[in-house]
Amino acid sequence: MNPKPIRVRIAPSPTGNCHVGTARTALYNYLFAKQTGGTFILRVDDTDSLRNTLESEQGVFEGLRWIGLSWDEGPDVGGAYGPYRQSERLGIYAERAHELLEKDLAYECFCSPEDLEAERKQQMARKEDPHYGGHCANLTAAERETLRAKGIKPSIRLRVRPGTVGFDDSIRGRVEQDAGIMGDFVIIKSNGIPVYNFGTVIDEYEMQISHVIRGAEHISNTFPQVLIYEAFGWEMPVFAHLVLMLNPDKTKISKRKGAVYLGDFAAMGYLPEALLNFCAFLGWTPGGISEEILSLTELQEMFSLQRCTQSNAVFDQVKLDWMNGMWIRRLSAAELTSRVMPFMIDAGLINVPVKSDEIRLEALLELIHERLPRLDEAPETLAYFYTDWPAEEVDLDLLTASKSNRTKEDIYSVLQESIKLLRSNSFTAAALEEQFKALAASLEWKLGDLLMPLRVAVTNRKISPPLFTTMEVLGLEKVSQRLANASAALLGNAPADRSGHE
Ligand code: GLU
Repeated sequence: MNPKPIRVRIAPSPTGNCHVGTARTALYNYLFAKQTGGTFILRVDDTDSLRNTLESEQGVFEGLRWIGLSWDEGPDVGGAYGPYRQSERLGIYAERAHELLEKDLAYECFCSPEDLEAERKQQMARKEDPHYGGHCANLTAAERETLRAKGIKPSIRLRVRPGTVGFDDSIRGRVEQDAGIMGDFVIIKSNGIPVYNFGTVIDEYEMQISHVIRGAEHISNTFPQVLIYEAFGWEMPVFAHLVLMLNPDKTKISKRKGAVYLGDFAAMGYLPEALLNFCAFLGWTPGGISEEILSLTELQEMFSLQRCTQSNAVFDQVKLDWMNGMWIRRLSAAELTSRVMPFMIDAGLINVPVKSDEIRLEALLELIHERLPRLDEAPETLAYFYTDWPAEEVDLDLLTASKSNRTKEDIYSVLQESIKLLRSNSFTAAALEEQFKALAASLEWKLGDLLMPLRVAVTNRKISPPLFTTMEVLGLEKVSQRLANASAALLGNAPADRSGHE
């Protein structure tokens, strides 16, 4: 007998944005499918939000594509097992529910929401787990007709057997629960729409899904799903529930606590390659290698369900930043330039980029390429190449923060010396370095004491790319003007009793 073909799926709800948890689940399914020569299916779980499916599924698709994933079957790419939106499959669910009704494995329930709420309150008061008490479980056909004639639309409930319900999870082993506490649960609501658990099982069966790989938050859903497979007498897929993704403080990741949607990560300057790489490690470890920077193709070769972890994954942004920096370094200069450009435009530093803007940005990025953790930091880091500032905005504390207690006057005169020096030789980083070393020596200043005010004058910040290269890129006129600006700032802020002191 041929083994069952591998068919896996991601079943996102059309929420408008792709959650990072959805991306991780999609990635694991994708890797598993690619590695086994299987098929990766995208199915839209849209029965909760029938009205706005089309627009809001796009956001999810875009997120998944942005991170580098694609699917073999889905609403946008077609396939032999469609339709791939649950909202287009309502007839299939109704037919299947009817089958269960015929076999008396399910029944119609005419209880009103008010009746159910009253029952729930009584159970809670008795400290029982809320569950349906079975009021409509044994109605006769005549009783049902009478209720229907009153215009009451029934829901359909599965008859839940007593005993234990469980499944073998390929990550967690055997997982079980008492079926009794569930009560007969609704599979089709009174409006004809299936509940998630029912639609999901029908789809897994109809689409011949072999493995259900999804987040641990769905373990509690798996128990009712198992009962539905049992009712139909269908073979279950293999279940694999991935560990939860937690903040370092062990709380569940949520948008209140940080970025969770792929669009937010993109806006924060994370590369999709890095986020994908990071997600791969949120619930899986490669065996026997310590390399952590892995591409989608590399992951595809290494991934295995057996190496999915059982302890919850920590969503560590510090690690994500590190990975992002590593991925940024892997980009070519041209690629980095094109990825940073939108951030420069957003920051207003470049308007409509022309070729010369690209060339200049590429040269500037070369100065920070090795140290850039996120794309969104480029505009701020490079701002001083694009904009000047008035003397009042010069950071005087930084400018005069000399380690060797140099006075404002010392700094002022060294800036004046520097301005003279700039004009005397060729304006390359190497020549500048030589000249300023010589200046420091002749003044008997430590080089660091000279570089600090120079750096602040040129960049108005404490940390910058190598100073002489920065000067070379800025050019003689700009650098002279900034040293003059810083000098003016020093004069403007000189205490009154020191005036004329020089
Ligand atoms: N719509 C569910 C979700 O997005 C799908 C769960 C499943 O994979 O069964 O979490």
